[in-house]
Amino acid sequence: MAVPQMSALNIPVTPENYAIWYQYYSETNLSLKRAIDGLLANEVEFTPSVNQGLYNNFIQEQSPEVIENVQIETQLLINSLVNRINQFASGTDDFSSNLSHFNQELQTELNPQTLNELVVNISSEIEQVISNNQSMKADIETLGDELSQLKEEMDNLSKVAMTDELTSLNNRRAYEIFSTEQVSLFTQNQIPCSLLMVDIDHFKAFNDTHGHLVGDKVLSFVGFALKQSVKGNDFVARYGGEEFVVLLPNTEFKDAFTVAESIRERIAARQLTIGKENKQQLGNITVSIGLANIQPGDDSETLLKRADDMLYQAKSSGRNCVKG
Ligand code: GH3
Ligand code: MG
Ligand code: MG
Repeated sequence: MAVPQMSALNIPVTPENYAIWYQYYSETNLSLKRAIDGLLANEVEFTPSVNQGLYNNFIQEQSPEVIENVQIETQLLINSLVNRINQFASGTDDFSSNLSHFNQELQTELNPQTLNELVVNISSEIEQVISNNQSMKADIETLGDELSQLKEEMDNLSKVAMTDELTSLNNRRAYEIFSTEQVSLFTQNQIPCSLLMVDIDHFKAFNDTHGHLVGDKVLSFVGFALKQSVKGNDFVARYGGEEFVVLLPNTEFKDAFTVAESIRERIAARQLTIGKENKQQLGNITVSIGLANIQPGDDSETLLKRADDMLYQAKSSGRNCVKG
């Protein structure tokens, strides 16, 4: 219902606009529905700024789950449109080749003089159909290109849904997807994988002393230090608060322990400062790290639980250390 209404109102089918109209028809967002009904009743034109206003006021504030649902729906819509286009394009190809064939037969088999004129007419009509067909095919190809662009925008949107805003690292949702994949790789092909759970020590006290904003900068610093300590295939995410996870694909326990130690040392060694001209010394922070590797029978939750238990041990044996 959303798409025909959008095209009737001349609203471009972008992910944002589709989110608005999807929610309008699904009646999950009653204040949005009231606003649109008002606009429709007053015959207000849906200009880009009206569309943007609706998105900013009624969609952006929604929970990630709602946005994710819209993404899934949009993806389904795109897939079905792409399928239909593919069917249609191959249908027109067949039609063109059948017509060409018919055209050839007409010209070779109908020899009598009296039918000559008719043959010429039929031929020209067929040529016309073929050329119409070709222009229709070109239109469909353009539509296909537009859909590919839309798909690219969707990919960008899902990148946003998988990224932690403060640190620009992967977020917990991205971690859960990646860790589930790693568990299947281990189950199917015995490819090892290790998990580090990294937690900043006494971070509450740090925030209390220096303030939350400085605390946020330290979270970004830790995120950056983690990224710098691992290789391209390794996966770093902010799990939540002041906790981070690092998944090391294809890495046995012993090597993962070495990586964890180097992360711990790198962070502890850094003297933190804030401000450019009047540099204020903040001292240093330390992290505790729990380590686990995937074992037969694990799922992503049991793996995380073991790393978390090890983190707890690291905390209770004095912090600033790795346990596994
Ligand atoms: P422990 O060594 O046992 O881990 O002590 P802790 O103080 O780090 O642990 P606790 O769980 O008691 O407190 C975590 C603190 O992390 C609470 C909060 O002040 C801080 N924190 C969590 N999320 C954020 C955030 O997004 N920004 C900032 N600045 N601080 C955060
Ligand atoms: Mg914690
Ligand atoms: Mg902590």
